[in-house]
Amino acid sequence: MNKRDKAARILEILNDLYPEPPIPLKHRDSYTLLIAVLLSAQCTDARVNQITPKLFALADTPEKMVAISVKQIEEIIRPCGLAPRKSKAIWELSRLLLDKHAGEVPGTFEELGALPGVGHKTASVVMSQAFGQPAFPVDTHIHRCAQRWGLSEGKNVVQTERDLKRLFPRPTWNRLHLQIIYFAREYCQALRHDPSLCPICSVLFPI
Ligand code: SF4
Repeated sequence: MNKRDKAARILEILNDLYPEPPIPLKHRDSYTLLIAVLLSAQCTDARVNQITPKLFALADTPEKMVAISVKQIEEIIRPCGLAPRKSKAIWELSRLLLDKHAGEVPGTFEELGALPGVGHKTASVVMSQAFGQPAFPVDTHIHRCAQRWGLSEGKNVVQTERDLKRLFPRPTWNRLHLQIIYFAREYCQALRHDPSLCPICSVLFPI
């Protein structure tokens, strides 16, 4: 099976398994999603979802966020890790949204990427999940699956994103990146997987 055929088969299986994958990070709007995604760097979504209600109860808009101190933010988000850096980025990006974007989250890669603490992956998640624009944010789960399925030999997430974008039709990207994440968590974990129970490799690589 060549890569394109494999990709088509994987898409069919994932559409069956996860027809409507929900967005994993709790949020109310594009701003709270942006903050949640920023907090999820090197942290689990479950942990972020425990912390964001406390933070958003205090500040769920850029105006309210700059009204509290970086130290207050840091105290609340400490369980998410990298708290000094993330709290500073959250406060500064909120300030910048007020100064340059009338308090709104901008809807372009360029403007999002210019915000403190917002890299390509965070911008891609926001573009996809808040604005419905085609994007393919690749995290470690997607990177691992792409390698195991033989869809990419990319050494890093940037190369993997490029390879996957070539293989899967653009209109599928927004749902697909979530479907792969759910699949990876359920079946294709980094240290533990059971090929006999797996609905994908048994099809791609039949014995
Ligand atoms: S058998 Fe399933 S769980 Fe294992 S690598 Fe393949 S897709 Fe992942």
